[in-house]
Amino acid sequence: MLHTLNAPQQAAVRYLDGPCLVLAGAGSGKTRVITQKIAYLIEQAQMDARNIAAITFTNKAAREMQERVASLMDPGRLRGLTVSTFHSLGMRILREEARHIGYKPQFSILDSADAAKIISDLLATTDKALVRATVSRISLLKNDRVSPDAALHSAASEGELHLARLYRAYQDTLLAYQAVDFDDLIRLPVDLFEAGEEVLRKWQQRLRYLLIDECQDTNATQYQMVKLLTGVSGQFTAVGDDDQSIYAWRGADMENLRLLQQDFPRLKVIKLEQNYRSVARILKCANAVIANNPKLFEKTLWSDLGIGDPVQIIEAKNEEHEAELVCMKLQAHKFEAGTGFKDYAVLYRSNFQARIIETALRTQRIPYVISGGQSFFERAEIKDVLAYLRLAANENDDPAFIRAVTTPKRGVGNVTLERLGAYAAERHCSLFAAVFEEGFIHQVQPQQYEPLKVFAGFINNLQYRARTEPAGALLQELLAAIGYETWLYDTEEPRPAETKWKNVQDFVGWVDKQGQEKGRSLIEIVQNIALITMLEGRDEAEVDAVRLTTLHASKGLEYPHVFLIGCEEDILPHANSIEGNMVEEERRLMYVGITRAQRSLTITYCGKRKRAGEWQITQPSRFLRELPAEEIRVSGRLAGAKSEPLVTKQEGRAMLAGLMAKLG
Ligand code: ATP
Ligand code: MG
Repeated sequence: MLHTLNAPQQAAVRYLDGPCLVLAGAGSGKTRVITQKIAYLIEQAQMDARNIAAITFTNKAAREMQERVASLMDPGRLRGLTVSTFHSLGMRILREEARHIGYKPQFSILDSADAAKIISDLLATTDKALVRATVSRISLLKNDRVSPDAALHSAASEGELHLARLYRAYQDTLLAYQAVDFDDLIRLPVDLFEAGEEVLRKWQQRLRYLLIDECQDTNATQYQMVKLLTGVSGQFTAVGDDDQSIYAWRGADMENLRLLQQDFPRLKVIKLEQNYRSVARILKCANAVIANNPKLFEKTLWSDLGIGDPVQIIEAKNEEHEAELVCMKLQAHKFEAGTGFKDYAVLYRSNFQARIIETALRTQRIPYVISGGQSFFERAEIKDVLAYLRLAANENDDPAFIRAVTTPKRGVGNVTLERLGAYAAERHCSLFAAVFEEGFIHQVQPQQYEPLKVFAGFINNLQYRARTEPAGALLQELLAAIGYETWLYDTEEPRPAETKWKNVQDFVGWVDKQGQEKGRSLIEIVQNIALITMLEGRDEAEVDAVRLTTLHASKGLEYPHVFLIGCEEDILPHANSIEGNMVEEERRLMYVGITRAQRSLTITYCGKRKRAGEWQITQPSRFLRELPAEEIRVSGRLAGAKSEPLVTKQEGRAMLAGLMAKLG
């Protein structure tokens, strides 16, 4: 069973005497160690799958891991295995233990947009930048495990005091809504574990072996969760690469790798050096770039997958030209190599870059899927529908109440809503509960009250049915009852209305599948959705389409052919990072990007770019100069390198042949 692993990988899989850390560069088979170790624990060490938890960075990674493990062994023996993100594990713990901290098990999970709305209400401002800054400061406090009380106590300035008060008010609001935000999904379980021996014991008993992927990106709270769960026995395997730590802005702390060694003196550290992903030239480029960062741990990385083609570096005139070049190169390459669209990925630093490339791909009729951008579940139309479901799952979810009661419009006016809000605030109850209170009913006219009453009755009915009836059919019925399609066409232009309605139908299809395959009720499905919103959307594994993704979201993944676009100063490295002295983190991001490529890598940058309507001359990224000259081929003005035509004769011929084939 272990024959597909090299010696150090095998050692990591077999090691069961205590905590184990695999520290190794990209593509060296760290994730593979985790997958194989799960199988090993069950098949060889005779552990019950229910006692094993593997923690990945995204839901997508979790799904892939689950599939890989299933292909290694009898799926029947995998029953009860936990493969999830920190957040979904936290959610599971919290749903079971909610009552200890004043929450009901059916609490809602707010996404970042909902959280921002609460903050902007508390601040009484619409200044987006201010709201965003405040949200992220509160988030950092949470990730550093500072409670609102602690923040109030330790506030050293007027500004800090203000922030602490806001943090307090924000938490109170969440509790009133019976809602938590993403950070709470980790923070609250850790608080629970620290507060109650009994709860901790229970979970330690249940999850006896932990495996953690991408551990360089854990933050202090996540680290604490691992530490508490594994207790003194320290039965865990963590794998990571300090050179791929790219989430400092979310509170991730590489120091955790060092802390591990401190907190677990018996920690067994295993290094892997063979890369099984990329051809030598790509690897040399990656190694050369990252060599410019100070080293936390010494690592070497080699592969024997052949030397490969030189990494291509191309200067485009501007961003549109860049997008066209990518499409051209991609099609020519595909025609020559006989590959599929899904063998290609376009990676970029920031989401705004996606739009331009999307337009070009669409014009060229190249199929693509986008991940890591706005998730499917964050689209307005999906959130509209979700609001009803959230409210059915948790009637205290006031943000969901407001959205559902006003979308579509059903004759409940702002004045009525304000009155309802004031009443609920005074009585410390939810908006939903207030609808049924005599005190409120007397405050409004019967014709104002009627639509509210109808709405609340509708939700009551939904609550009742959503626990037992088939999810897909019920959702379909709900849409018909609220007249959502008609409303879309009444309020939008036909084209966007059509797209939105199609998205809603896709959503119904997805819900139906979840209901049928996993036997989940509508309520259970909606309780899990919030987590899918975090980094990715739908399952897209099998479609033959080019992958578009941000560098951050590409972590852990691999693609045969990669285009890394927009390698310019102020984009990669990002302007904010240059200012904030965070270029090392950007370099790691570049390293992550390069090491996603298996067989070929093309890097592009623009000579100029439109910024706020003005053309600006741009500079090639400093990271490009760090690439070893003998491994690259440059077309453009990168200093010192000899220049090549943008499209080679060979590519021209391939493109022409491709065109002829299409026409004929
Ligand atoms: P990253 O740092 O990017 O997350 P990783 O260290 O987790 O990379 P994996 O994704 O586990 O690396 O492995 C990279 C590729 O190499 C995968 O396609 C994997 O199947 C393959 N691989 C790993 N180990 C071996 C091995 N011993 N023999 C053959 N192929 C391997
Ligand atoms: Mg990995």
